[in-house]
Formats: sequence, C-alpha cells, structure tokens
Amino acid sequence: MPASQTLIRGGLVLVGNARFEAVSLLVEDGLIAAIIDGDGPDEVPVIDATGRIIIPGLVNGHTHSHGALGRGGVADDATLETFLAGATALNGQRSTDDLRLSAQLSAAEMIRKGCTACFDLSGELPGPSVAGIHAVAQAYHDAGMRAVVAPMISDRTLYQALPGLLEAFPEPMRAALAAITLPPWQQTLATVREAIMRWPVPMTRVRPGIGPAIPLHCADDFLTACAALAEELDLCLQTHLAETRMQQVAAQTRYGTSLTAHLDSLGLLSPRFSGAHGVWLSPDEAHRLAASGAGIVHNPMSNLRLGSGTAPMRMLADAGVTLGIGTDASNTSDGQNMFEATRLAATLSRAGAAPADQWITVPEAFHMATEGSARIMGLENVGRIVPGWAADLLFLDRDYCHYVPLRDVLSQIVLAENGAALREVMIDGRIVLRDNRILTLDEPALARQARAAAARLDAANTDARLKSEAAACVIRSFCHAACTAHTHT
Ligand SMILES: [Zn+2]
Repeated sequence: MPASQTLIRGGLVLVGNARFEAVSLLVEDGLIAAIIDGDGPDEVPVIDATGRIIIPGLVNGHTHSHGALGRGGVADDATLETFLAGATALNGQRSTDDLRLSAQLSAAEMIRKGCTACFDLSGELPGPSVAGIHAVAQAYHDAGMRAVVAPMISDRTLYQALPGLLEAFPEPMRAALAAITLPPWQQTLATVREAIMRWPVPMTRVRPGIGPAIPLHCADDFLTACAALAEELDLCLQTHLAETRMQQVAAQTRYGTSLTAHLDSLGLLSPRFSGAHGVWLSPDEAHRLAASGAGIVHNPMSNLRLGSGTAPMRMLADAGVTLGIGTDASNTSDGQNMFEATRLAATLSRAGAAPADQWITVPEAFHMATEGSARIMGLENVGRIVPGWAADLLFLDRDYCHYVPLRDVLSQIVLAENGAALREVMIDGRIVLRDNRILTLDEPALARQARAAAARLDAANTDARLKSEAAACVIRSFCHAACTAHTHT
C-alpha cells in the first residue's frame, strides 16, 4: 500500500521544541517524515498553514474519563477525602454505555483544548469489567486520540484506607460504613488481565496501563501484583501519590514511613511507575523517585480546587524526577485544559515569592506538558516536532490577540494561551478538529446523551449522595485533627 503523505505548508513551526522556523512538514503514515525548508514537493496533498503557529500536541499525563459525566457534581468545599467519600454518588450505577459516553465527552473536551494524548485512570464501580474497560479504549480509538487506559483499581474503601477514620463515626453510621467492601483484588486484577489480553483496538495508539488508585487504598500484595503485571506485559503503572497531607499522615501510621519509601520497599518504583500529584513529597522521596527513573505528574488546577496544596516542582525537577503535567478529571478540576495546566505549572511556582532561579521556566513547563508527560505514558516518539516522531500537532491562529504583536512565541503560548487560538488539531497524521468541529465525534448527540444520563444517574444516586454528604462532615474534621496532631508531634 502506498504511504499516505501530507504536506503542511506555510506555518511557523516549533522545531525540536527549541526554535520556531518557517518550514514545511512532510507527514507520512502518522509520522513527521521530513522538515523541509521552503514549500516542499507539489505532488503531495497540501494543508495550507499560512497564518498558523504549529506546536506539538499537549499530553495530559493524568486524567479520569469517568469525570466528564460528573462535571459540576463536586461540592465547592470538597477536599480530596470528602470527594472520595462521594465517589459512589458521582460515579455509581453506570452502565457500559455511560462509561463510553463519559470517555467520549472527555476526549471531545481534550481535543478542543489542544490535548492529543492522555493517561486515563478510568474508574468503574464497584470494580472494573472487561466491557467497561473496552468501552473506554474504543471511545479513544474512535475519537482518534492517543491514550493509555489504566483501569483505576483498589481493594480498600476510604474508611478502610485511613487508620482511625471509621472510629470517628458514631453508630449506626460506623457499622453501615464498615459494611461497605470492594471486590477482592485477585478478582479485580484477573478482570484487568483479561481485558488486556482481549484488547479491542490496535495497541499502537490506545494501549492499556495499570492504575492502583491510591497506595493506602490497596493492600501491599495487591500493589506488588500490579507492578508484576505491568512488568510482565510491559505496561505503565500510575497511582495517586501524596496528593494530600492526610495521605502522608496516614502512611506514617500504617507503614511507619513515607508513601514513597514504602512503595520503594515493595519494589514498585521503576521507569514504568508514575505518581499523580506528588504534592506532599519530601526530598528523600524525590531522590528515591529520581534514582528509579519514576515520574510525577503535576496537576496544579485540581490541587488548587481541592485545597490539596502546591506540589514542590522545583525540588522534584532539581532532584531529576521525570515530570509531566495533567489536568485531572472534569469533576475535581472542572475542566481539562492542558494550556491552563501548563500555564499554572509555570506561574504557580512563582506564587510564594521565591527567587526567580527557583521558578519553573516557560521551556520547562512546555517540556513537561509534551515530552515529559509522553515519557510517563511510555511514548518514546511523541511530544516534539522532529523527523520520525508522531505527527500530533496543534495549529494556532497567529492573528489571535495572544500573538499580536508576536515577540517570544513560546512564552506567549505558555503564559497566555488557553485554547482560544486553537484552530486545527492533528493526531497520528489525521486532522480531528477543523472549522470549530470535531470530525471524529458527534458532539450534539453526545450532549443530548450526557444530559439524559446525568438526570438518570443523579436520580438513581440520590440516597448515596445524602449519605456521603452526612459522612463528609466527620471526614473533614477527622482529617483536620489528624493533620494538626501530626504537625505538633
Ligand atoms: Zn486523579
């Protein structure tokens, strides 16, 4: 079969994530085949990119597709722990079609905001199913996105995960919460293995991963079994690591050491391991992560929204940890805008009035949002525009106000862009967004389905929501007291 070729002509291209040049790009079979000075050959179909700035697609190192259907359903005063208590109310009673729909909504939002690849810790309650995992993978495949679909799995509820939490509840609530259990991890992991063995789409663009949700929510045997499966099948593994102070306090109680030191002792840290958030990591933990080649995905918007804190990105970068950027889901982050997350990665590092040499620079933030996240996804040729790398490209309108006048292009992208200047998106050599329309998804139909699904699910989950709201008061005061007591010991 002859190679499919396209020539992108007339754009201002970020070459090698280093410099902008007026060059043409020859795209062949989903890859950048050549960077050409001048107009290039005439016999190849041409995309006219006159007036466009062309950059690599942004890579979302951490999100949850199930969050899209939960949009707007997280209380204004939610912390991570109260949000987790409400997970059943927000994500319960979902059918396979609901899981697919949520992934489609999630993909549509990411494409519209310049994201071409994502690491999705997709959740299903009470545990994963082969059909559910496959529905999410199929959704990304059909949307034309690149993704790692890692079923988010655990075998302990929040009440089993945090030592002492259950005892903070009065009866009969305590007994009711104690009675909630999750499926045994052996059963859960067998389902994940089966889903991977019967993967429904080619693994070139959408591949599986392993997603033990939070270390405290997984038995140690479960965690080591997850790592063994990732090793056996050559997959990436991601967990939520030190997202909140409460998690580190609970780790001291449960493990007698930090979260990362504990995972290190279990043999989990490796180049295939990444932790989402990493807000409460110590220098010792940073060194353990760096020494093992593991990564951290920064989710600044979600951390702000849930009051989790500010991740020590300078410390992690200086320690040599592989760093990526993520949005987290549209429930806790209220949207999946990688431009905003990248901008925050740069600017939030300046919030504490630290000296300028401690800031995350524009090139550092952009690197994290492209090559950094791609490396965490296990993608070796994604995130920069050079021959042999993926033709995952964003086309920005250089006449849009963010770029008028145009001086420092990368700085203006990282510090000003929010997606408003995005005009076309190419993934794997194929245009998926053009003329303000996603070519791979029927957005009006998705909107109709989403409204109907939300109304049905909210009604079905009313009882769970009332219970989680009642539990939230106790959880909030328990976490506050535990963290305060820890500070004074
Ligand atoms: Zn998350």
